[in-house]
Order: sequence, then structure tokens, then C-alpha cells
Amino acid sequence: MATGLTLIRGGRVLRHARAPLAEADILVEGERIAAIEPPGRLRPEDARIIDAADRILIPGLINAHTHGHGNLSKGIGDRWTLELLLNAGPWVSRYTSPEQKSLTATLGAVEMLLKGCTACYDLFVEFPTPSPEGLAAVGRAYADAGMRAVVAPMMADRTFYAAIPGLMEALPDDLRDAVTRMASASGEAHLAACRAALKSWPIDRDRARLALAPTIPLHCADEFMVGAARLAEEFDAGYHTHLGESKIQAVSALTRYGTTLTQHLARLGVLGPNFTAAHAVWLDPDDIQRLADHGGSVAHNPGSNMRLGSGITPARRMLMAGVHLGIGTDGANCSDNLNMFEAMRIASLASHVRGPDYEQWLATAEVLELATEGSAHVLGFGGKLGRIEPGFLADIVFIDAGHINWVPLNNIVNQLVHTEDGGAVDKVMVGGRLVVEGGEILTVDLKSLRRQAEAAIEEMARSNAAARSLAERLEPVVGAFCRGIAGKPYPIHHYGAVRELEI
Ligand SMILES: [Zn+2]
Repeated sequence: MATGLTLIRGGRVLRHARAPLAEADILVEGERIAAIEPPGRLRPEDARIIDAADRILIPGLINAHTHGHGNLSKGIGDRWTLELLLNAGPWVSRYTSPEQKSLTATLGAVEMLLKGCTACYDLFVEFPTPSPEGLAAVGRAYADAGMRAVVAPMMADRTFYAAIPGLMEALPDDLRDAVTRMASASGEAHLAACRAALKSWPIDRDRARLALAPTIPLHCADEFMVGAARLAEEFDAGYHTHLGESKIQAVSALTRYGTTLTQHLARLGVLGPNFTAAHAVWLDPDDIQRLADHGGSVAHNPGSNMRLGSGITPARRMLMAGVHLGIGTDGANCSDNLNMFEAMRIASLASHVRGPDYEQWLATAEVLELATEGSAHVLGFGGKLGRIEPGFLADIVFIDAGHINWVPLNNIVNQLVHTEDGGAVDKVMVGGRLVVEGGEILTVDLKSLRRQAEAAIEEMARSNAAARSLAERLEPVVGAFCRGIAGKPYPIHHYGAVRELEI
């Protein structure tokens, strides 16, 4: 944690997405921004000086949705839908030791910091239940790397195979027996572990804090969804779930609940200002209004939605309804590179391909705002993160204006969203502490991290070999079953899919 005074001198500062780019000096006191003044006016005694000549300073980008457990499996699958990814879950991201959990979280933190992202909402899975030690190891990994995080244990009390109505019955007997043996832990066990973790959380909540993530409503009993909401309320924590991510989920909800997923959650009483819906692709107009009426948020992950063929979230319609929106990358096992610059670009492009009415497309200033202040709100850091302003935490990304991405500089905001790819990130400051300099991470030994990652994937290949072979036998059956559902019309008016495209 930084103490004392730091003067960042000579940079061009973009205070927020709608501000002009202006030359200014920034005084940082401890963890916070104390003052921003025209060049030369601030003359503090005994301040550390950081020269920002030829640097563009922007607020740190904030990733509204990722999965720390996916970082050792970047690039592992190709033509996987969400359901095929879930089928592969037991072999692609199952760890046992706290060291492996810490390692995989560190990998993500390093990658995000190097690409200009200073905080994230991490839905992290542990088997069979979350553990106070495992969650603390993940939180410490972020804090030690110098990144902020909301760590939300991702939980289910029903397996994927039991969650999709009809899937169990469609499996051949031997495979059905095998998946029946994969029992999930009970909701009570999950909640008891979460309560213990919330009570004993050892890290400053502004650096890393806990939230709760019953992963997918279909994978969780109603009592468990409600119990998690009550626990989140009791500890003033966030509540995050994957909502209407795929058509399979939307159709399965009608079968299981007789309503849409969002309506079901509204009836359970779990929607509220601390509620974040990840993806929210397959929502109807009433669902969107329900989210808005409850003050809820959406973590918009357009890269993952395209990679998994889930559809395109109607971001404009959500903004018009008053839903809070942040932008996320999703996990490295389904969008590979945790690059928030890429996530912004895809968010922009995804809004363009929805139709020719360009006034409905997201403007680049809107996209940048979503990836900074919007995501800050989703993480529960509204008014503290997402801007370079006095009183805000000093999370600042220094971009090298001499990098080819900025030669020439025509329009700061358009180029941040459409041109920059993370390559020009020179320095990254989090809470007044420099954690990246010269494009290199200062807080972690990358060579040692690489050795540990390589050893971990070898060890995982051994310990998860049986799970992999089972998943590979299941894949064609699960794939065929889900394609059957996806091929039928969805009877609810919705905005999720591009229906006019054909191969
Ligand atoms: Zn996710």
C-alpha cells in the first residue's frame, strides 16, 4: 500500500470517458488522488516524482466478470458452446491445493494488469465447496499482485447434467450412471462455508472483498438461491449469477419454472441493487425492466457470448431501461485473453451488428464509460473507481503516446476503444503503487510464474485424466441434445439472437 505523496508530472489526462484530454499534473496522497491541476501548479515538498511526459493517463479499466479458475486453461477449447464448456469443467479447471488456486488467480491478475485493467469481479470455483482458506488465497494473490478484486465463490448444488431438463434421460445408461455419481455439495454446505469465509475475511475490503455467486439458477435449488441472497444482504456483499446466458438455459427455465429465468428470480426475491446478472443475453422486455426496477446490474461479456455462440446482449435496450451495465471478458477458458481493450472493442462492434440503425449503436464514449465507471458500480466501487478525480482511488493507466497504436493521435476515446490493444500500456498504478512499469509486471516474477504454471498443467493433466475421458465421451451426446433444443423456436419475445443470419 502506498504512503506519502506522489506527483505525476507532465502527462495528458483523460479524467473520464466524456472529459477532454488535457495536460495536467496529478497529486496522489497515499492511495487516493488528492489534486489535479494544470502543469506546474502543484509543488508539494518531499513528493516522489513520476515523469509522465508523452504519456496519456486514463482510469484503470475494470473487468466486471471473469473466472480466476480458468486462467490455466486459456485457449483450451475451440468449438465449444456454453454447455460443452460446462461439460468440460471437471477437467479444465479443477484444482486441489491452495497453491494452485493462488497460482491461477495470479496468472489472471498479471495478465489483466499488463493490459491496463486494475480491478475485476472474479467468480472462482472450488470443489466440493468454497473454503475460507482457498478464497483467502485467491484474495491474497490479487492483493499481492497489486490488483483489486471482488472474489465470489461460484457454487452449484445440482450438476450440469441434472440442471437441463431431459438431458439425464438422453444419456446412455453407463454415462448416466457416471454423471449421477458426480454429486454436488448441498446448498447448506456451500452457505456454511461462505458464512465462515465472510466472517474471517483477512484482507482490506478495498483491495479484495467477497461476494456470492450461485453460478446458474438452473444449477441451484430455489432455497439455495434465496439463502445466498440473504447471506449477501447480511454481510453487505454482492450477488452474481449467470442469467439467461444461452438459449438452452432460457428454454430449460420455461420447462422447469414455467416462467423466464428473470421472472423466476424476481419471484424468489433475490433481485436488488447488489445483484449482477452475467451475460443476460436471453432476456425479454419485461425481464430487462425487472432488472432495472430492482436497481440491478448486468456484466456484459460480448467476447465470450460470441466465442460460445450464445448470442448478443441487447446493451442499448438495457441502458434505455436504466439497467446498470459493466463490461467483462469472462474467463480465459471461454474468451482466452482477459483483455479489456478487446472487450471494449467487441462491445462496440456487437452493438453495430445488431442492425443498421446507427443511432442505437453504442458510442465509444459510452463503451469506455461502461468499462470504467459502469464496471466500478458492478463491483460495488461506484464513486471510488473509474475516474481520475480528486477523492477517487489512484488507479491509473499510463499509455505510451509514441506507440504505433497512437501514431497519429486523432481521437482519444475512439482510439482507446477501437485501436488500443494493451500493447501501449507502459505503467499501471493501483492505489498509488506502481505495479507495471515499462510494460513489465513489478510485483510478480514472471519466469517463476511460468514454471509453476507449466508444472501445474502437467499435474492437472494427470489428476484430471479420468474426468477428461468421461467428458470426451459425453461431449457428442450433450452436443446433440443441446443442438436439438437450440434448433427449436423460443416462444418468448427476446433480443438475444441474431435470427436473420444463415450460413
Ligand atoms: Zn462466467
